[in-house]
Amino acid sequence: MKIELIERFTSYVKIDTQSNGNSESTPSTEGQLTLANMLVEELKSIGMEDVTIDENGYVMATLPANTAKEVPTIGFLAHLDTATDFTGKNVHPQVIENFDGNPIILNKEQNIILSSADFPELPQYKGHTLITTDGTTLLGADNKAGIAEIMTAMAYLIKHPEIKHGKIRVAFTPDEEIGRGPHKFDVEAFHAEFAYTVDGGPLGELEYESFNAASAKLTFKGQNVHPGTAKGKMVNSAKIAMEFNSKLPSEEAPEHTEGYEGFFHLISINGDVEETTLTYIIRDFDRDSFQARKELMQKITNELMLTYGETRVKLEMNDQYYNMKDKIEPVKEIVDIAYEAMENRGIKPIVKPIRGGTDGSQLSYMGLPTPNIFTGGENFHGRFEYISVDNMLKSVETIVEIASLFEAKA
Ligand SMILES: [Zn+2]
Repeated sequence: MKIELIERFTSYVKIDTQSNGNSESTPSTEGQLTLANMLVEELKSIGMEDVTIDENGYVMATLPANTAKEVPTIGFLAHLDTATDFTGKNVHPQVIENFDGNPIILNKEQNIILSSADFPELPQYKGHTLITTDGTTLLGADNKAGIAEIMTAMAYLIKHPEIKHGKIRVAFTPDEEIGRGPHKFDVEAFHAEFAYTVDGGPLGELEYESFNAASAKLTFKGQNVHPGTAKGKMVNSAKIAMEFNSKLPSEEAPEHTEGYEGFFHLISINGDVEETTLTYIIRDFDRDSFQARKELMQKITNELMLTYGETRVKLEMNDQYYNMKDKIEPVKEIVDIAYEAMENRGIKPIVKPIRGGTDGSQLSYMGLPTPNIFTGGENFHGRFEYISVDNMLKSVETIVEIASLFEAKA
C-alpha cells in the first residue's frame, strides 16, 4: 500500500493546481480541472461507481455498501487546489527513506535546509519515510495528501470485501484556499448524512470547531489641499484610518493570540491624503464575542463619523463562515467515531479548534455536518512543507476504520 500511496501523491503534486482569488470562474484555475479529470479516470479504474464531474469541477463517486445492515451514508472530502501563498508550479517531490533525524538539504544550490532548529517537531519523524519539496515550491500535501489517502482507502476497501461498510461517498472539490470551497457543492447530489474532510495536519488531528469569520473594509475620504495653505481645510484620510486602528484592542491580533482567543487582523492598508482603505478579518470561536467584535467596528466607525462627518468613513462588513461546532455538536457521535477509529489504530487523537476556515464550516451550515481529520502533513503553504508517508498510511487506516465502525455500530 505504501508504494501505491507514494505514487499517487507524487503524481498529484506535479500538477499545478494553485487557486486564484482574482478569477471569477469555478474552478478558479485550469490546473484544478486537469487534476479533477485525472481523478475521475482513477476513481473509475479502482472500481468506484457513479463517478461524476460537474461543470464546476466537483468530482463525486460512490463505493456501494457491502452489508445488509442499515448504515448511514458517510462521505470523505478533500480539496483539489493548493495555497496561494507560495508557488505550486514545477513541484519536485523528494522521497527520503528511513529519515535519519539530521537536517535535510532541500536545495544545495540555494542552501535551503529543513532543520530541527527551525522546525522542532522534525526529530520525531526519525525512521519515517518523508516527502519534501526541493526548496523552491510548496509541496501541496495540503490537500493532495488527503486526496491520495481517500483514494487509497477506497482502493483498499474494494480489494478487501471482508471489511463491511455502508455506502461511502467521496468528493474532490475546488478552491478551498480562496475561501470558496463548497460554494457550488451540490449537497443534495452528494447525499450523505455525515462527512469528513481529510485536510488536517499532523498525526491524530481531529477538528470540529472553527472560527466565526467576517471581513471588514473601511474607506476613509480626505480632502487634499497644498500643505502650505492647508490650515483648517485639509482632511488627511490616512490619519483618520490610523485613528480607527488605534481604537482597536492592540493585543487582540493574530500575533498575540492562540487557542480559543479571537482577533482583529489588519490584512492591508492602502492610501494617501485623499483616500485610505483598511481591510480587516475578524475571527472568534464564540458567537457572542464574534458579534461584539463586529459591533465594536461599527461603534468606532460611528465615533469617527461624529468627529469628521458621515461621508468621511464607510464600513462594509460581511460574514464569511461560522463555527461548525454549532452544527456538529448535535451529532457529536461522528466525532466520537473518528476518535475511536484513531484509538483502535493506535493513534492518539488530538482534538483542537481550527484557527482558520475549512470546507467543513461551510458544509456543516449547508446541512452536511463535516469534521476534519489529519493528513499527516507539516508546514503547509510553504517551501518547508513535508509529509510522513508512515502517517499518511495511518490516515488511510483511519478512513477505513471509520467506515467499518459505522457498520459495526449500525
Ligand atoms: Zn487544506
